[in-house]
Amino acid sequence: MAKFESLTFDNGFARLPEAYFSRVCPTPVPDPYLVCYSPEALALLDLDASEITRPETIQTLAGNQLLPGMDALAALYAGHQFGHFVPQLGDGRAILLGEVKNAAGEGWELQLKGAGRTPYSRGGDGRAVLRSSIREFLCSEAMHALGIPTTRALCIVGSDRPVYREDEETAALVTRLAPSFVRFGSFEVFYYRNQIEPIRHLADYVIARYYPELATRAEPYAELLREVARRTAELMAQWQAVGFSHGVMNTDNMSILGLTLDYGPFGFLDAFDPGYICNHSDTGGRYAFDQQPDVAAWNITKLAQTLVPLLSVETASAAIADYPQQFGQAYIARMAAKFGLPASGEMVPLLMDALQLLAQNHVDYTIFMRRLCDFDSATEAVNAPLRDLFLDRAAFDAWALRYAAALRQQGSDDTTRGQTMRAVNPKYILRNHLAEVAIRRAADERDYSEINRLHRLLARPFDEQPENAAYAAEPPDWARKIEVSCSS
Ligand code: AMP
Ligand code: MG
Repeated sequence: MAKFESLTFDNGFARLPEAYFSRVCPTPVPDPYLVCYSPEALALLDLDASEITRPETIQTLAGNQLLPGMDALAALYAGHQFGHFVPQLGDGRAILLGEVKNAAGEGWELQLKGAGRTPYSRGGDGRAVLRSSIREFLCSEAMHALGIPTTRALCIVGSDRPVYREDEETAALVTRLAPSFVRFGSFEVFYYRNQIEPIRHLADYVIARYYPELATRAEPYAELLREVARRTAELMAQWQAVGFSHGVMNTDNMSILGLTLDYGPFGFLDAFDPGYICNHSDTGGRYAFDQQPDVAAWNITKLAQTLVPLLSVETASAAIADYPQQFGQAYIARMAAKFGLPASGEMVPLLMDALQLLAQNHVDYTIFMRRLCDFDSATEAVNAPLRDLFLDRAAFDAWALRYAAALRQQGSDDTTRGQTMRAVNPKYILRNHLAEVAIRRAADERDYSEINRLHRLLARPFDEQPENAAYAAEPPDWARKIEVSCSS
């Protein structure tokens, strides 16, 4: 195991020309303390728990000191926010400390979110509050455990320094890890300034570092677009299949690596509702749950546009043309697997009718899918635990007959299918109310045990964990009042 002070840094992004960032140090916070950490994320840096709990490490991850080899900076980017172009954004409160090379040769960029003001802070204070930091920490690690590409979260460090939002809250910093935090907006900023060479250089950097297999192709920039579109289609299929709503799919929150990036007012579906809007500030529903795949397509066209000067309109368009089909295929494949059916077009009406029934009956999505793993396909079976979820029992019975017939036609064995389905239908997701309980305990009582408990629970989302069954239940009534917005 490595020592935190002797991590090896090799800061690829910091070696780019200064056009891409501003060098800036974190602003210290008083008396930092460790709130929680992810052992799985620590392992990515070859570190164990004894390293993260040391005061020196906590000082560094509070932004109070830098280690030799770190080269702190805030990245520049632009972005389309709710459809409107904002020519300059950038890391307004995130500071990249450097890139760690682990023993396996992987590069992991270490970024502090909430580390103080940067040249891109605009009116903001450069801080993050404990509440939103807990949500980001838990969700990043939960998404990873679900098998969904995402930035990771190493730990949260807190400080009693006040931070003013609607109310006074306290400051926290999340240490995020990712191979790269480059966004679609990292390209857009130069496109709208008419600066072609920085676009080319950034594309070359991204290809060389993260898509080396594309470098030797005839049209590497077109291949890059194609690959980003493909990964994004895959990511959208995973979000839709698990019922995840990001909430702020601006182009500056879209990862060039196809990772889930920038956790803000996200939410998982409880009752299945295609029009679910998790972001209280999104009054128009631009980023509603069922809009996500199309919004991603729109965002990809914005990225493609930035590469047009290096390609041509035709080549750029052709490179992203497959997105709808890629998304469709990936989505059907994932949904069919959740239902234990083959991914053929024939199955689509059965899947879509189920979703429609869930929506009409306000059935909890995750609970339905999990109970479906125990479906009895015998002709006379009632499947009461599933049936009881529906108000319209007759409609469920009619669907269940079709489903049972499809399963029997496949020669599907209930026990084997159930096992396979349980590996793709999580029992545990980060429901809003679960995060809320952990947040309240942390904020009101300085009790971080619930964060740790949730973290451990969500590290094994597909396991039965009978002792934790209460965490798989539908949200309580008070959960309806939880509002999540961009203010974090
Ligand atoms: P987001 O919607 O959280 O992805 O943030 C949009 C932009 O606002 C990014 O450029 C952030 O860095 C910036 N930002 C958000 N909150 C703050 C803050 N408290 N202080 C400074 N900049 C912020
Ligand atoms: Mg952002």
